[in-house]
Amino acid sequence: MTASAAGRSAPRRGGAAAGGAPPEPAPVIDFHCHAGRWGRYWVDDACDRYLRVMDAAGIDRACLNCIWHGDARRGNDVVAGFLRQRPDRFIGAAFATPHYPEEAVPELERAVDQLGMAYVKVYPDYVGRPVDDPAYFPIFEWVNARGLPVMCHATYPFDPPGTTITGRFTALSRRFPHVTWVLAHAAGRVDADAARAARCLPKVYLETCSSGTALGAVEYAVEHAGEDRVLFGSDMPLMDARQQIAKVATAAISPQAKRKVLGANALRVLGLSTDLRPVPRPARGA
Ligand SMILES: [Zn+2]
Repeated sequence: MTASAAGRSAPRRGGAAAGGAPPEPAPVIDFHCHAGRWGRYWVDDACDRYLRVMDAAGIDRACLNCIWHGDARRGNDVVAGFLRQRPDRFIGAAFATPHYPEEAVPELERAVDQLGMAYVKVYPDYVGRPVDDPAYFPIFEWVNARGLPVMCHATYPFDPPGTTITGRFTALSRRFPHVTWVLAHAAGRVDADAARAARCLPKVYLETCSSGTALGAVEYAVEHAGEDRVLFGSDMPLMDARQQIAKVATAAISPQAKRKVLGANALRVLGLSTDLRPVPRPARGA
């Protein structure tokens, strides 16, 4: 299924009004999925079940991370297992944690260079310190030198008072200018601060998954962050990818915006061509 096909299957409110020639098809990429046994929420390593949901939802590629173990190596090996089974359907995201700082960068090198992971996932909720804590900086320095994306939550229960998403990612973008920041769930709700961050910062993107009803959230993000800055993600299997993609497919946005949110923007973030081949990245200074 392509992004334009997903758009065609949806009510055509904003789309029909936009008019013009149909956009060139793009693959549908789910930027936010988890893998690995967790003992609840049907989070497991049943590759076939992921594929059945992806096929039902029209998802061509799912980006997988495994954050369920304190040991990043163990989680990254789970993702590598999915990649070995279906390299044509999954894209790996390397989990990095500062819990064992001497292991973080060597594990990133293994996960990206040997296992073929495409971007980095961090989960500061486990650490009890936010994403802009210096404990993460050695990880981000490595990512910055590679010019890779990082996906993380934008806010945390333990944030200092007065923290804003725009302030946080402005500072991170200055310190690590080659990192692309994907803010998980930030387009899954109406969030003016997140939209402002994406509008003001050239390498900040908002991802769409949410557990709550998100009426109008995709439309808001597209209008206020820009249609080039929103990425579809499902949080599969914590959430059902069929429900999550429906928020985008039924959104009152143009067919072109749907194509971008559902896959074309992810291609650019991941450095892939429309036929999902790698596009050479420019060399980066540290
Ligand atoms: Zn998630």
